[in-house]
Amino acid sequence: MSEQPIPPTSQTPAVRSFKPLKPLDVALAELLATVTPCHDVEMVDLADADGRVLARDAVSALDVPGFDNSSMDGYAVCVAEAVAASERGLPVSQRIPAGHFGAPLASETVARIFTGAPIPEHADAVVMQEECAVDELGRVTVVVPARVGQNIRRRGEDVGQGTCVVAAGTRLRPDHIGLLASIGQASIPVVRRLRVALMSTGDELILPGQVAPADLPPGAIYSSNAFFLAHLLKRLGCEVHDFGNLPDSLEATKHAFREAAQNHDLVLTSGGVSVGEEDHVKPAVQSLGQLDLWSIAIKPGKPFAHGRLDRADGAAHFIGLPGNPVSSFVTFLVLVRPFIQKLSGQASAEGPVGEALQLTANFDWPKPDKRREFLRVRRDATGQLHLFANQSSGVLTSVAWADGLVDNPPGQAIAKGDTVTFLPLSNLLG
Ligand code: AMP
Ligand code: MG
Repeated sequence: MSEQPIPPTSQTPAVRSFKPLKPLDVALAELLATVTPCHDVEMVDLADADGRVLARDAVSALDVPGFDNSSMDGYAVCVAEAVAASERGLPVSQRIPAGHFGAPLASETVARIFTGAPIPEHADAVVMQEECAVDELGRVTVVVPARVGQNIRRRGEDVGQGTCVVAAGTRLRPDHIGLLASIGQASIPVVRRLRVALMSTGDELILPGQVAPADLPPGAIYSSNAFFLAHLLKRLGCEVHDFGNLPDSLEATKHAFREAAQNHDLVLTSGGVSVGEEDHVKPAVQSLGQLDLWSIAIKPGKPFAHGRLDRADGAAHFIGLPGNPVSSFVTFLVLVRPFIQKLSGQASAEGPVGEALQLTANFDWPKPDKRREFLRVRRDATGQLHLFANQSSGVLTSVAWADGLVDNPPGQAIAKGDTVTFLPLSNLLG
């Protein structure tokens, strides 16, 4: 018996309007063009500065080090005198520990000196103690030929007064913070944290902890997207407010969007951005602001929505990610991450995919998609890449198993031994 086709209704259009797929680079450029970086500045102590974006160039008011100093425990000498006295040795005229300023070196003597201590005037080298012999009278002989300037750290060799040590727009790491401390800064101007409202959409969603696994109603699933999205956002320095799960209802969606738009820089949702009649994100955003719905030529992750939610004093950005967890994860990395970086004032927002390595595939991928693919892979000790067997956009295990993504061009089949582009997740998650 042949199946009867279901007649189209007002809710299931017989002909869908077809929009061409947008290449990722084009989508990213258009998305970033909507962003004006945040210019709100606050002061933070260095203790709280990790991950914050520096708002102004940090310029040093001093040379670091501030004086020539010894890089060794040993003897400060005048090399010519030490060479001339290589038979008889020279007496020790003073002792200079770190933090103390010695007298000028008396001629025909050496100074006992320690790492970090200022070089006394008239000394032109430090000889490490292992390269000296000390006789019973305490006279020091240099036994390994010494060179003028050796073991002396020069004033200003690390930082010169007036130089910029960390540029505005840098997302601060521990090493930057150490450098800021070395020029005497105790608190620094940073861009305020972005405020992001996070929402998951779908009648099927239940929060972990709300219901025990054994009691999960038929058709329900635990919501996972908001959990990894919240942490990805926090790693980018955002303050996250999780609004929880929204039911598939236009009114509830509009209500939540209206509230969230009031005091957030970005409202980020997952799910509900396809074109089914249960997808209410699009009409809700359209009624409160403006929306573009894109089909991006990547797999996983095709549907992507962005726009704005208006409020009395401006607007919040809106981004809607696909509901499938892997799609949501990948679109976050390649689109939302650079978006947040730019909005948070970070200067050197890299391209969509960060650092790329050329590595060897230890797998076959004979049937590529016509979209650019991001395959979940793991690198072994020899640098070869292995493919997670199930590349479905619903299989979050593939991401947790992987340590990187293969960035595969549209229509590109892969055979074992081919060189492919590998994006380490460690770079994209930071
Ligand atoms: P949608 O984009 O709303 O059509 O959802 C696509 C798929 O992703 C469906 O199978 C949803 O159940 C699933 N999904 C949507 N939101 C979430 C979420 N927050 N956590 C886990 N899966 C989700
Ligand atoms: Mg849904």
